[in-house]
Amino acid sequence: MTVHSFTLPDRPGPFAIPTDNLIGDAWQSNGMGRIDVIDPSSGSVLTSVADAGVEEALAAVDAAEAAAKSWAATAPRKRAEILVACFHAIMAEQEWLAHLISRESGKALSDARGEVAYAAEFFRWYAEEAVRINGELNMSPSGANRIMVQYQPIGIALLITPWNFPAAMATRKIAPALAAGCTCILKPAEETPLTAQAVLEIIRQAGVPAGVVNLINTSDPGPVCRAILHDPRVRKLSFTGSTEVGRILLREAADQVIKTSMELGGNAPFLVFDDADLDEAIEGALLAKMRNGGEACTAANRFYVHRRLHNAFVAKLCERMGAIAVGPGADPATQCGAMINQASIDKIERLVADAVKRGAEVKLGGKTLAQPGYFYPPSVIANVQPGSEILSTEVFGPVAAVIPFEDEDQAIELANATEHGLAAYVYSRSLERALPIAERIDCGMVAINRGLVSDAAAPFGGVKQSGLGREGSHHGLLEYCEAKYIAVSW
Ligand code: ADP
Repeated sequence: MTVHSFTLPDRPGPFAIPTDNLIGDAWQSNGMGRIDVIDPSSGSVLTSVADAGVEEALAAVDAAEAAAKSWAATAPRKRAEILVACFHAIMAEQEWLAHLISRESGKALSDARGEVAYAAEFFRWYAEEAVRINGELNMSPSGANRIMVQYQPIGIALLITPWNFPAAMATRKIAPALAAGCTCILKPAEETPLTAQAVLEIIRQAGVPAGVVNLINTSDPGPVCRAILHDPRVRKLSFTGSTEVGRILLREAADQVIKTSMELGGNAPFLVFDDADLDEAIEGALLAKMRNGGEACTAANRFYVHRRLHNAFVAKLCERMGAIAVGPGADPATQCGAMINQASIDKIERLVADAVKRGAEVKLGGKTLAQPGYFYPPSVIANVQPGSEILSTEVFGPVAAVIPFEDEDQAIELANATEHGLAAYVYSRSLERALPIAERIDCGMVAINRGLVSDAAAPFGGVKQSGLGREGSHHGLLEYCEAKYIAVSW
């Protein structure tokens, strides 16, 4: 069996990263083609990973099936101990993993370090949840019998992840699946397979048994994922990615009535009311916009600022965003790294050009940097006009679109005028005002006077076309469980 691996040139880790597919107890790549992995900071090829087809995908289902019974029967305490060992093992490699994430995704090291801690936290949180999968017991209203409800593992899960958080999006799915007693197959994004490979090798060494987590990379995700979703042994799909692909997968999952969790696109509004603390709003705006270079589904996409504060907000935002150091992610001085690829740059350019054509003013940046790699500078465009595409499409880059508003009702109407509903941000000194506003915004998550919502202990997810189901918290665990109702007379 051919075995391939990769070592970061400037940062050798505790082991060479396997670049094959993990099926059962072995990394393998017999006869498979290879997929190049590109370094977005230079545009050059870093290495390649094995390209699996339908045959390997179904072998991964076989491996998950072979491990399913014994994993479901493993005592919750034992599962919890393995999960907590995974948390410690990932944290022990935080620095090395952060370098790897920076290298293959382009993000700044500081963002990558944060991602590793966030990714590891899902194992710690779900280690604590694994022993608290409580059922329910109550008397039926007629008094004839008891209603007993027990939560059982749903079965084999297919986990499909995007490139923007290659460690955290994988662990946010793997950890609750394992806590619930499910086995799984991870399909990472083509752009960032190495982080997932490294994380899987770490958790394997930390004690996750063979076949419990399998990994398939493919250059042809459509047919490969379709084959997995049409295998009757598979019972769960958890997907994070674009709304377009989410719709395709919902249709695929329908054939076998597979339970789905869908974390799809966002288009977060960031509302600054006239009683907001402007300096705090700027700090929050920087976090909500610039975390991960804007490549986050929770990223603030539209800044609606009360007309009284609009000009001061734009001036301060330009000052702070203009001071951000752009460069290769692995350079410690970098605060904003590269975008993932040329397609991403093309999309940002298109959205900015459309906004300008419709009357917006570029106050900062606004032009792709002429250097190798995929770099777009932190940019601010003000007075963005209704109908501009940037207001309805995630820019997924470091561009802040600012729009003035007159009153509360108008701000809420603008915030809700989208098919998406993932995150929203509200700045106001008055909670009496902000809390009812939070209730009126159509989205799954609202941050009040904060620029960050993500937390392993909180239910992450969207409404409308931003998705179905929740990840993180106890809700995230129940996504991998079936409620079994037993009517008992005694
Ligand atoms: P993005 O636009 O952020 O790259 P995508 O939705 O295209 O997001 O990709 C997210 C994940 O979905 C990746 O792992 C990708 O390989 C996978 N994917 C893309 N198309 C399909 C498909 N037709 N079926 C299954 N997975 C897919």
